Amino acid sequence: MSNDEFDFNIDRIRSPFSKAQIIASLEKYAQLHNVDTFGMREYDAWSRKLAHSETIRVRFGTWGKALQAAGCRAERGGKLDPKTMVKAFRDCWREHKSVPTLRQLEEFLDHHKYPFRIKTYAKVFGGIGRLARRIVQVQEGELQEADLYCPRKIEPRRDRTVFLRVRMDVLKRDGFRCVKCGASAAADKSVRLEVDHIVPVVRDGRSTMENLQTLCWLCNQGKIDNDN
Ligand SMILES: [Zn+2]
Repeated sequence: MSNDEFDFNIDRIRSPFSKAQIIASLEKYAQLHNVDTFGMREYDAWSRKLAHSETIRVRFGTWGKALQAAGCRAERGGKLDPKTMVKAFRDCWREHKSVPTLRQLEEFLDHHKYPFRIKTYAKVFGGIGRLARRIVQVQEGELQEADLYCPRKIEPRRDRTVFLRVRMDVLKRDGFRCVKCGASAAADKSVRLEVDHIVPVVRDGRSTMENLQTLCWLCNQGKIDNDN
């Protein structure tokens, strides 16, 4: 080891390996697996890895910079694709039957080898909680599906006033009872009634009396799970 490569360091996060050693290891991974880019988790799964990927990331600033230093492509698939990100999030939500936690989403993305991480969701959508709320708004007809994919542009809620007016008419028509199980909010305070689109808005269902029905929260959850 040459003098200029040695640094006195008591920070445990700092890698004991030189950048040159790390680069050689990344090059080796790419060569052995015949790939021009790879993720942190893939590298970590390699039995011959030099150091934990997080250590490498810290050393180079970002994982992409480390890959570039090793002559690899920094990002898989190039441009971000919000549509695919929304699809992955919905699939994960469906699988867990409730809004996924960060950890559940992370595992899901990893398992299905998606090229983006939860951090990408924060960057593109301002976090998964925000994305979840917007998906519910689409489900309820307050936002258009396309609005999900250009998240920085917040659309005026065109349908909202119409929807709120029709909503009350639907509840009245259905006698403030779930049309599936008959649960009544008047009889049981824990019953939460929702106005549901029979044909979902994502499939061009409109916010009209004919396409709306009163469901309790539980029946509506069941419907969402079975819908796709
Ligand atoms: Zn019900």
